[in-house]
Amino acid sequence: MMTVVQCWDDGVTADVRVIEILRRHKANATFNLNAGLHDASRKLLRKHQDTEVWRLGWSEMMAVYEGFPIANHGLMHPHLEQIPIEAARQDIVEGRDRLQQFFGQAVLGFAYPFGSYNEAVMAAIQEAGHVYARTTRNVEQPFPPENPMAFHPCCHFLAPDLWARYEKARVGGVFYFWGHSYEMVTDVQWTEFEQMIARISADPNARWGNVMDLFVPQERPLR
Ligand SMILES: [Zn+2]
Repeated sequence: MMTVVQCWDDGVTADVRVIEILRRHKANATFNLNAGLHDASRKLLRKHQDTEVWRLGWSEMMAVYEGFPIANHGLMHPHLEQIPIEAARQDIVEGRDRLQQFFGQAVLGFAYPFGSYNEAVMAAIQEAGHVYARTTRNVEQPFPPENPMAFHPCCHFLAPDLWARYEKARVGGVFYFWGHSYEMVTDVQWTEFEQMIARISADPNARWGNVMDLFVPQERPLR
């Protein structure tokens, strides 16, 4: 049985549509958020291929993400390896604290903003209480990682070889993909995404999991 895990970065409004699809197909996902970048209401971030990208507002986030695990994506989404380590540590710790306080759940995962890190950043993330930190590097067998603070996924969700990677991952028992919901800008892409989720849900030899459960399968008290 292969465990399939996925995660989505940046807390944008298209996450709402992803979650509708996930709920329809009983799929799990982790959402990696930047606690310092949300306002009470939605705000325009930028355009992605002519489509506006809006960050969700705090006022709706509890309802949007209900039932899904939240992970830390840095308070302000900095290049953590390019700022003084004390500033990086503060961004990491405060990002986690604010998410835990708001959602009332233990935040044990981290996703590197821009996928970049160094040894000092890895140590700071672990010291802050995270059990894994996701990179953007692709590997065939993600789990167990050599170092949980450099947890490499299999691929981005739009990777053309996703299904080949999916089959290869059966050997190791974990398939892990990631993305940004705002990368889906056409109805065709959304339909293909739903088909992909449905196909995984229908796979008798796969089951959906949560990323942090790979690392901490037991109870998770708030700390
Ligand atoms: Zn990001």
